[in-house]
Amino acid sequence: PRMVRNALYTYVRPVPTEEPELLAVSKAALRDIGLSESEATSEELKTVVAGNKFYWEEADSDKQGKGIYPWAQCYGGFQFGSWAGQLGDGRAISLFETTNPSTGVRYEWQLKGAGKTPYSRFADGRAVLRSSIREFVVSEYLNAIGIPTTRALSLSLLPKVQVIRERLEPGAIVCRFAQSWLRIGTFDLLRSRGDRDNIRKLATYIAEEVFGGWDKLPARLPTKTTTTTNAEGKQESQEEAEPDSHLDPSRGVTRDELQGPESHEQNRFARLYREIVRRNAKTVAAWQAYGFMNGVLNTDNTSIFGLSLDFGPFAFMDNFDPSHTPNHDDMMLRYAYRNQPTIIWWNLVRLGESLGELIGSGERVDQETFVSKGVEEDFAPILIKRAENIIDATGEEYKSVFLSEYRRLMTARLGLKTQKQSDFDDLFSTGLDTMEALELDFNHFFRRLSSVKLADISTPEGRAKTAKIFQHREGVTGLNESEDTLKEKVGTWLEAWRARVAEDWGEDASADTEREKAMKAVNPNFVPRGWLLDEVIDRVENKKDRTILEMVMEMNLNPFKDSWDLDEQLQKRYCGDIPRAKRSIQCSCSS
Ligand code: AMP
Ligand code: MG
Ligand code: MG
Repeated sequence: PRMVRNALYTYVRPVPTEEPELLAVSKAALRDIGLSESEATSEELKTVVAGNKFYWEEADSDKQGKGIYPWAQCYGGFQFGSWAGQLGDGRAISLFETTNPSTGVRYEWQLKGAGKTPYSRFADGRAVLRSSIREFVVSEYLNAIGIPTTRALSLSLLPKVQVIRERLEPGAIVCRFAQSWLRIGTFDLLRSRGDRDNIRKLATYIAEEVFGGWDKLPARLPTKTTTTTNAEGKQESQEEAEPDSHLDPSRGVTRDELQGPESHEQNRFARLYREIVRRNAKTVAAWQAYGFMNGVLNTDNTSIFGLSLDFGPFAFMDNFDPSHTPNHDDMMLRYAYRNQPTIIWWNLVRLGESLGELIGSGERVDQETFVSKGVEEDFAPILIKRAENIIDATGEEYKSVFLSEYRRLMTARLGLKTQKQSDFDDLFSTGLDTMEALELDFNHFFRRLSSVKLADISTPEGRAKTAKIFQHREGVTGLNESEDTLKEKVGTWLEAWRARVAEDWGEDASADTEREKAMKAVNPNFVPRGWLLDEVIDRVENKKDRTILEMVMEMNLNPFKDSWDLDEQLQKRYCGDIPRAKRSIQCSCSS
C-alpha cells in the first residue's frame, strides 16, 4: 500500500481492456449528463467507459502535456466503528468533469473496476460483473424515485478479465458520475494526520466548488434589525428574531428547534457543516421511507454531498423488519435498517470533529494530542469546546430535518395531503407495527394501498376483504398469525387510515381516483429487490441473455408506472409477490 501524504489524489490511468462489451447504458443518465440518446451507441463513448480512452496528450520534448489525466482519490475511514487508516479509491479512477450545458450541473466521471491504483492495498482493482450489475441498477433506481445518489451511466463487461473471488468471475466496469465523490472519510484521513492546512483547503474547496459558494450554504440564523422612529423623532434600531426564511419551510426547522446559543453565532465553516448534515439527514430519511438499506455505512461511504454512495450489500426491505441488515457480515446489526439514521449521525459527528478547529472558536482543549503529527494510525482528534456545542446544536437540526423529511415522504406515501402530529403515532407506527407482526411486504403495502377505494373499507366486512390484498400469495407468513389476525389488525389500521384520508380528501368516491394517482406517483410499482437482481445476474452471466437488462432498466427508470411495453409475464413476476425462499436475502461483501 502506498501512503500518500499532503495530497488527496494520485494521477493514475485505467488499464486498457481487450474486447469490452457494452452491456447497458442508462437513458436517464445520458439525459442528465447532457448527451443525446444516439450517443449511447457511439464508438467514442464505448471506448471511454471501458477505460480505453482518456483526454490527455503526452508532451512533446519541449511542450507540456495537454488535457486531463485521470486520477484516484485518497481517503480514510471508520469501518464498523473503528479507525481503518488510509483507504482511497482502490478500484475507482476519475476521468474528467463535464457540465450539462442546459442545467449547468457539473459531474465527475469515474470508472469502477478499471484496474489497480496506488490505493488498492492488497486487492486487485477489479469489480465482478454481479456487483457491477447491482450498482448500475440501484444507482439509477434511487435517482428515479428521487433519492440523492451517485449515478451510473454504463455497464461494460470485460470478457478477458477473470477476477478471483470465491470463484473465478468475469470482470466489469461501471462508468459512474456524481457531483462530488468526496466523503467524510476524506476528512478523517487529514484529521488522523493532523493536517490542519489541508482540512481548511478541502472545506473551502467544498464550499466554493462543490456547493457553488459560501452564499449557497444555509445562512447564519438571522437576526433582523428593525429601525423605528420614536416619539422624539429619533431613529431606534431593535434586533428581533426572524423566521428562518432561508430554510425551506417544508423542511420544518425553526429557530426555536435549534437549541443552544451557539447556533446563532455560526461562522462560515459551521454553515458548511450544517449543509452537509442537512443533506445527509434528508437522504437517510428517504432511505427509511422507501426501505432502502445501504449495508455498509462506514464514514468512507458517507458522502459530503448527501448522496447515497457505495452499493455493496444494499437491499430494499421486503417483509418489514426493522432489525434487518442486508449485509451478511454485519453480525452486530450495526448497519441494520433501524440504525441507519443514528449511524449517519455518528459519521457526521466524526466530520464535526475533523472540522472542529474551523467551526469552533474557543480555546483548544486537546492540543497535545493534536500536535502528534505524522503518526499514521495515531488518531489525533481536534476538539474544541465551542465545536462540541456547535456539533450538539447541529445534531438537533439533523433530527429535525430528518423527522420533517421522513414525515413529508410518509405522509405522501399514505396518500395524505396534510400533516397531523397524531399521524406519527396512529398511522405510521401502527402501520409499521402491523406490517412487522404480520410479515407484510413494505413496498407492496403502499402500492396496493394506493388503489383501495374508501367505500370498500367503510364496513368491517369490506376491511376484512381488503386486508387480504396485502397478504403474500402463499398466505400469511408469520408463524403464529392466522388469517383472522390479519383481517383484524390490518382492518383496524385501514379504518384509521380511511378516517384520515376522508379528512383530507372528503368522502366522495370521485376523490379515490385523484388520490390513487397521487399515491402511485410516490409508491413505486417496481423495486429492484435482491432476488430479482440475482436472477438478472444469472441471465446475463450464465445464460448470455442480452435483453433482460434493457427490460429491467425500462421498469427501473420508470418505476411508478402500472405497466410497461414489455413481456407481461416478466412484469408480473418482477412486480408481484416475492418467492418465499427469496425474501430478505443477505449479500456478502465480496464484490
Ligand atoms: P468498501 O467496503 O466498498 O467501501 O471498500 C473499502 C475500500 O476497499 C475502498 O478503499 C475500496 O476502494 C477498496 N476496495 C474494495 N475492493 C477492492 C478491490 N477489488 N480492489 C482494490 N480496492 C478495493
Ligand atoms: Mg467504499
Ligand atoms: Mg464498495
